Amino acid sequence: MMNIAIDIGGTKIACALIDNDQIVNSIKVDSIIHTNIDDLAAYVYTVIEKWVPQASSINIACTGQVSAEFVNFLSVRRKLPLKAQLESLTNLPVTIINDASAAAWAEYTVNEQVKNKNFIYITVSTGVGAGIVFNDQIITCADGFCAHLGHTTVHIQSNHNYSCHCGRKNCVESIASGTAIAKHASKALGKTLNAKDVFTNYAEHPEVAEIIDNAASAVAELIFNMKATFGNETVVIGGSVGLSALFFNKVAEKIQQAPAIYQVTLLQPVSGADADLIGVHHYAKNQLI
Ligand code: ADP
Ligand code: ZN
Repeated sequence: MMNIAIDIGGTKIACALIDNDQIVNSIKVDSIIHTNIDDLAAYVYTVIEKWVPQASSINIACTGQVSAEFVNFLSVRRKLPLKAQLESLTNLPVTIINDASAAAWAEYTVNEQVKNKNFIYITVSTGVGAGIVFNDQIITCADGFCAHLGHTTVHIQSNHNYSCHCGRKNCVESIASGTAIAKHASKALGKTLNAKDVFTNYAEHPEVAEIIDNAASAVAELIFNMKATFGNETVVIGGSVGLSALFFNKVAEKIQQAPAIYQVTLLQPVSGADADLIGVHHYAKNQLI
C-alpha cells in the first residue's frame, strides 16, 4: 500500500505519492491559503483524488499553528478543521503536523549529521518557521504555537517598518521571510516584486543588498538566541529563501563572526525541497509503530 504526503505552504502546495519511503509521483500547485482558504480541503482533494484508491493514509505538513483539531493560519487569521475535512473527503486516516516540524523530523530521520542530536530546523520561506528536536523528540504543544521562532523578536538597526502581522514589532518573520523581503524591496525600488525576483535580479542593488543583509542578520540573531536556550550545536536552514546560496552563505558568515559560545554548524537539509513531505511521512509511520 502507498501513502500520500501533502505539504501546504503559503506559496505552494506539494503533494506526493510515496511507495516504500520513496516519492514515486508528485504534483505542485499554487497555494490558495491567502486567496480562498475556505476551499482549501476541496482544492487539495482534487489534486490527490486519483491516488486515493491506492493509498492507506494521508500525512499533511501544514504551515501555521497545527493542533489535533484545527490548523490556525496566523497570517490569515482563520482556523480550519483540515484533518476532519480530508478524512471525510477521502475516508482515509489523516495525520497533520506543522511543516517545519515535519522538515526537522525528515532531517532527524535521514541526515547522519543530526541523527541523535538536539538541533533546530529553520525554514525561511513565505514566513519563517521552525522545528525543534530536543532529546529525540519534536517539541509540540496543545495549541501548536510552540517553535514559532519566526515570531520571536530581534534587534536590527534599520529604517524599515518591521511590524509583524502577529501584532508585535521586530519579529524575525517581519524582517527575513520571503514576504517581508519582497515587501521591503518593492517599497525601496517602487515596483512590485516577489522574493525570487529580488534574489535573482536585484540582489546587487545597494538598498536591496541591505534588506537581504538585515534578513540574514535576523536569522543569525535567532540562531544565537536558540543556542543560548537549547545549547544545540547544529542548525539546518531550509525553505526557498533559506536554500538560496546567497542567503545561506550570509547567515553562515554572520555566525562565523560571533563569539565562540554562539558558534553552531549550519547545514542545508539533505532532504532538500522535499523535507516537509518526507518528514511527515516518517513521523506518521513512527506514530503507528
Ligand atoms: P512555502 O512558503 O509555500 O512553503 P517556499 O519555501 O517555496 O514555499 O517559499 C516561498 C518564498 O520563497 C516566496 O517568498 C518566494 O518568492 C521565495 N523564493 C522562491 N524561490 C526562490 C529563490 N530561488 N530564491 C529566493 N527566494 C525564493
Ligand atoms: Zn510576529
